[in-house]
Amino acid sequence: MDIQEKSELLHKRFIDGMYQSFQLRENPGYYDIVFIPMWSNGGIRFNEQKKRFDICINDDLLTGNYGNLEYTLYHESSHCLHVKYLPLFAKGPAKFRNKILGEIITSLSALIYVERNEDKETARTFFKYVNSEGQTSIALFQNINDMDGKINLLKNLLRNDMKEARPFITKVIGKNRISI
Ligand SMILES: [Zn+2]
Repeated sequence: MDIQEKSELLHKRFIDGMYQSFQLRENPGYYDIVFIPMWSNGGIRFNEQKKRFDICINDDLLTGNYGNLEYTLYHESSHCLHVKYLPLFAKGPAKFRNKILGEIITSLSALIYVERNEDKETARTFFKYVNSEGQTSIALFQNINDMDGKINLLKNLLRNDMKEARPFITKVIGKNRISI
């Protein structure tokens, strides 16, 4: 199996395993994965021809250590399941506040998925790959011990926009964070 096939398999397993946690009644299907040179590890890009997002992964990750490619795939796959915020990626940074919440949600979801399918310790090894907003996701992840609690937290965050989510996040991690 080459790395493209492996990535597609990991993406499909993630979508199948997580779509219900994102409150989707039906499996939304899978996205194309393209490896390209990028500044960041990954991203999603709207493909005008297909009228659908592609998952883009930095081609440097093809030769990386275990974890970085996997984490990036899970994070970007989460963006595809987070349908409420997908339009923000097509239209640009109009609601940046909610875009940060989107990053917190997707990083948290990737960590939850790894804990659920492997274990908490393996999930910990993925901490080093999260983006800056993901530091809040790590704090949330570590402050709730049981898996049901983590899934509930994810569901709560999905319901809110950043204005409503902030007090909730602050309560869980015991620290107020602001974006500037
Ligand atoms: Zn992201």
